[in-house]
Amino acid sequence: MKVMAEYIWMDGHQPTQKLRSKTKILNKKISSVSELPEWGFDGSSTNQAEGNFSDCLLKPVWLCKDPIRGKENILVMCEVMNADGSVHASNTRAHLRKIEEKFSKENIWFGIEQEYTFFEGRNPLGWPEGGYPAPQGPFYCGVGADEAFGREIVEDHLDLCLEAGLELSGINAEVMPGQWEYQIGPLGPLEVADQMWISRWLLYRISEDYGVSATLHPKPVKGDWNGAGAHINFSTQSMREKGGLKVIEDACEKLRKKHDEHIAVYGAHNEERLTGDHETQSISEFSYGVSDRGASIRIPMQTSNDGYGYLEDRRPSSNMDPYQACAILIETTCS
Ligand code: ADP
Ligand code: MN
Ligand code: MN
Ligand code: MN
Repeated sequence: MKVMAEYIWMDGHQPTQKLRSKTKILNKKISSVSELPEWGFDGSSTNQAEGNFSDCLLKPVWLCKDPIRGKENILVMCEVMNADGSVHASNTRAHLRKIEEKFSKENIWFGIEQEYTFFEGRNPLGWPEGGYPAPQGPFYCGVGADEAFGREIVEDHLDLCLEAGLELSGINAEVMPGQWEYQIGPLGPLEVADQMWISRWLLYRISEDYGVSATLHPKPVKGDWNGAGAHINFSTQSMREKGGLKVIEDACEKLRKKHDEHIAVYGAHNEERLTGDHETQSISEFSYGVSDRGASIRIPMQTSNDGYGYLEDRRPSSNMDPYQACAILIETTCS
């Protein structure tokens, strides 16, 4: 029997790492990641090595069903290692691995909202050639051929994610036409981040079939149009229990002190999005508030009413690396 295993990894592209993948043919059905062989690739073609010493190592760390190829085929998330087996500089997962272990007793949950924008050529999908659609207003959660652009791809992507076993919790059309969102979680740190990367790969991959590209740029269209974020919803065990609101407020005060460090790993070009308009707080300010979508951190109404729950960090941009963003959230609030 032949099994196709799609090995997926993050490259060394700066300022935003991109996904790469290639297919390995195996001779037996795989049921756990430990059965998968390591593999190599040419790091000089991915900004991960010099040409004269180019071999990098792919270490399989997470797998799921490949919902596109079907049958026994699989998608495999990999960490990149140096030829000697040490952690490669571009491997941001290795740090989150350590942090998750260190703070395992906190029983941390993440739910990430991934916003993205479809482009057809140089235009957002559904926009008139060289012009603009009607102003924002009717598109968020809209329905109808004049308001929702790309739904067939969105539905396809949703099916694929569920088929793969990813923990999607919802989808919606966004404020800017051609822009959409899905949410993953709540899940533990490594799980949410691995699933986020795999779901992004599936999004890019299925969009290929439609001749459309999905972009995670935080401000895909300049001007009076919403940007694209990746709000991170976050809670520890003690935030979810009676008295949790106080723990959440303490966490917000810790986050205030580390604002710049967080912004540094919340995605490139985020200053174009965090302007203080379009449901954002300015990148140079930190604030938190109940039900406040103009704050850096929103405490959901339900959490305030119950006295426990979770917080929503609204600062991360759509192109953030969930390994780095989840790690710093844990380090800042749990230390
Ligand atoms: P918004 O109102 O900001 O658009 P969404 O419904 O899009 O919110 O996303 C909320 C996310 O928060 C979901 O992925 C959900 O699973 C997650 N979530 C819910 N409760 C918790 C919790 N206690 N801890 C962490 N994440 C949570
Ligand atoms: Mn949302
Ligand atoms: Mn949204
Ligand atoms: Mn949100």
